Amino acid sequence: MSFDSDILIAGGGLNGPALALALSRAGFSVTVVDARPAPQRAGDNFDGRGYALALASKRLLAALGIWDAVAPNAQPMLDIKVSDGRAGEGPSPFFLHFDHAELEEGPMGYMLEDRYLYRAFQTAIENDPAITLLAETSVIDQATDATGATATLSIGKTHRARLLVGCDGRQSGVAQRAGIKRTGWAYGQTALVCAIAHERPHNGVAHQFFMPPGPLAILPLPGNMSSIVWSETDANAARIHALSDEDYLAILRPRFGDFLGEISLAGGRFTYPLGLTVANHFVADHVALVGDAAHGMHPIAGQGLNAGLRDVAALAQILTEAKARGEDIASIQVLERYQEWRRFDTSALVAATDMTNKLFSNDNPLLRLGRDIGMGLIGAVPALRRSFMREAAGLTGELPDLMG
Ligand SMILES: Cc1cc2nc3c(=O)[nH]c(=O)nc-3n(C[C@H](O)[C@H](O)[C@H](O)COP(=O)(O)OP(=O)(O)OC[C@H]3O[C@@H](n4cnc5c(N)ncnc54)[C@H](O)[C@@H]3O)c2cc1C
Repeated sequence: MSFDSDILIAGGGLNGPALALALSRAGFSVTVVDARPAPQRAGDNFDGRGYALALASKRLLAALGIWDAVAPNAQPMLDIKVSDGRAGEGPSPFFLHFDHAELEEGPMGYMLEDRYLYRAFQTAIENDPAITLLAETSVIDQATDATGATATLSIGKTHRARLLVGCDGRQSGVAQRAGIKRTGWAYGQTALVCAIAHERPHNGVAHQFFMPPGPLAILPLPGNMSSIVWSETDANAARIHALSDEDYLAILRPRFGDFLGEISLAGGRFTYPLGLTVANHFVADHVALVGDAAHGMHPIAGQGLNAGLRDVAALAQILTEAKARGEDIASIQVLERYQEWRRFDTSALVAATDMTNKLFSNDNPLLRLGRDIGMGLIGAVPALRRSFMREAAGLTGELPDLMG
């Protein structure tokens, strides 16, 4: 039986290229098929998103040879401050302060804009002889048999591989066609996202203010710039997004506060509707799901991409070990090892982000008192504080080799 490549990856966003690089280093031939139109793929316009990359993710990027290309644009996240707040009132007195000095490994993570990470991945996969990139191409159908998977592509060709991996995002067609159902719901919240320039330096401190309609994260970028992820109810967000830049800033200012001096917009404004969507299974016959295709979560803890990159490192390790043992890499026994490794971790993370959002996105005085006391307690117990920081840095649980 002949194959066009060992592994076919549907989706060339962030997790798809990361997986392609990890697999190519392990000696697999890989094809990445990405639907994204050429102008979008070539441009380096800021899509508004900056990722809080956990320390474990940084280690993976270094192992894949990507880190040196993005490091000049990455901002170390030294401290994280979390507080309960209302617009115009400033943070509550019970705020949590996570200081990287308490962690021996250094910064908990790095802020990096999507455009830099995306371009670095594209350049790396384009230059890797073991990876074929089919851009502006979609997987439109798929079938599996005893030995592999055959995908039908929008360019009128079929592609046969031992394993088909869905890195095709929250609405994963690979999952749907494999008969994998999803669980999820919309939060009724939309994230308003943009970059903000400010007068004073942020000193590498990230802030999370929990407001009744949803959290506001202020995340440090290089220079006197920060990226904000500002969650509001859908109706509020639509109203705010429709305002002029000046009126938008007038609503943001009392929420943002004046601790960084005068603020202004440093680019376009974007919105992302927020929802949760988790695949009921991460694997099927000759099929595996990675990243948002497996689990799309609320950005409240900045963990979506980090969880995807952990899938990447875990799947690459399972497949590499199976190959070394002479096993069929796409057999369900091998794929289930990946599912067992990643499903519990991601379910716990998805549940935690869901619960935190529900607990904090309201103005109930009892819940407010409870969460302020909770934050006060965590802040007062160094061991608890350190365990939260290790979690945020992605250093807990069974770390795949590429993140060790
Ligand atoms: C406001 C916001 C802030 C966030 N902040 C953080 C953060 O701080 N830290 C963090 O870790 N995460 C964060 N996330 C989450 C992060 O953005 C996602 O987890 C990540 O982008 C998912 O990447 P992916 O490669 O899995 O999917 P995607 O980026 O969705 O890529 C999917 C790709 O598949 C392609 N595709 C789709 N269908 C097909 C098909 N049939 N054939 C071929 N290709 C196809 C698409 O064109 C696309 O290129 C945030 C998310 C939001 C919305």
